[in-house]
Amino acid sequence: MAGLETAAVVTVGTELTTGHRLDTNGAEVALALAHAGYIVSEMVSVPDDRDMIATALSDLIARRTLVVVTGGLGPTHDDVTREAAAHVVGRALLRDARIEEELVARISPHREPSSAVSLLHQADIIEDAVVIPATTGTAPGQIIDHDGHTLVLLPGPPHEMRPMLRVALAGRVASAPPVTLRCVGITESDAGHRVLPQLERYPGVDLTLLGGPGTVDVILVSTTGDPGPLEDARAAAEQALADTCFSTDGSTLAETVVRLATTRSAVVATAESCTGGLVASAITDVPGSSVMYTGSVIAYANEAKSALLGVDPGLLAAHGAVSAKVAAAMAEGALRLPGATVAVATTGVAGPTGGSIERPTGTVWFALAATGAATRTEVHRYGGDRGMVRQRARTTALDLLRRTLLES
Ligand code: ATP
Ligand code: MG
Repeated sequence: MAGLETAAVVTVGTELTTGHRLDTNGAEVALALAHAGYIVSEMVSVPDDRDMIATALSDLIARRTLVVVTGGLGPTHDDVTREAAAHVVGRALLRDARIEEELVARISPHREPSSAVSLLHQADIIEDAVVIPATTGTAPGQIIDHDGHTLVLLPGPPHEMRPMLRVALAGRVASAPPVTLRCVGITESDAGHRVLPQLERYPGVDLTLLGGPGTVDVILVSTTGDPGPLEDARAAAEQALADTCFSTDGSTLAETVVRLATTRSAVVATAESCTGGLVASAITDVPGSSVMYTGSVIAYANEAKSALLGVDPGLLAAHGAVSAKVAAAMAEGALRLPGATVAVATTGVAGPTGGSIERPTGTVWFALAATGAATRTEVHRYGGDRGMVRQRARTTALDLLRRTLLES
């Protein structure tokens, strides 16, 4: 079985190992490497400590074809990645006159002289390294060949790292890039139970399941780089996941709803109580949603549900705000918004207080009203804290819209 080249990612920064900053570079680099045809076998974060960086690099460069390092290329005393890398490959750090000149030209005359001197450290290049010019910052990146293995040094700030990573990977595209099947209305373990038996025929395809609030990403990764089995596995997995799978091209649930409504000339309206505008926010996050979205009524208090959506106060008194009848009346009220052809409503108990025996925390009623169709309602009971309940309710509301639009 042909193997893919393996890579490692090292993120440098004491702020990462102390938990003060979330390591987003590691994830970004790993994803980019997978799409460039590498298997990322290891990822580590190390503090701004020359010896610890050197230990990690010399260990990883011996095992992996490619090691990508981010962080510690700046001008301050704690930026020691350059020195550590030079030590590992046994080469000198040489001041690059042209880069130094550019840095001098950019140094503000108001800088302290000592800080101006340390800024020039960024012109120190490891002997024979290929320089990746800095376009959005001051520290250049460096690509070093070491006994046929490659070490790439990139700056820490994500907006500086990103364009340089693209240069370092120089348009390398995986022959079998990872496939993501995004699903909704299914648990992580049910998705696994449906897909795993399908993959038995494809030993070169690995499965990763990634749960979100109400969504599951089913990620298929080729360990051989052979696109045939990956494509066959994708087709089998998609069939097994059936209508729970809403996208295979990375698009989000809201993007899917916007696309479906647009191609069907449907106009969506929303009436939100416990989700407080989360559904509206997700839809309006998508560029182009203006053609398929008319607006939302956020009706939190009972009085607002009556005044803004025309919910009969008698219904509220008889059934309570968290009920099928009130959800239905809310959706029908939203359907009266200008141009609306389909409307979804949410009303629930997000917690932590407000639950009761018959309506425990996490209970959310949904209703879907559409022109010329009977209004439908459904209830969900979510676990988790207030934030999780609200996010999962947003997902369900979007999924109700998706399923309705698919049927229309
Ligand atoms: P600088 O010239 O800004 O000092 P640098 O290459 O030395 O660049 P660091 O000092 O390690 O990079 O980090 C600079 C900033 O970049 C950090 O404060 C942080 O905001 C961000 N950063 C660094 N590493 C990461 C990471 N792994 N994930 C997310 N952000 C990061
Ligand atoms: Mg720094």
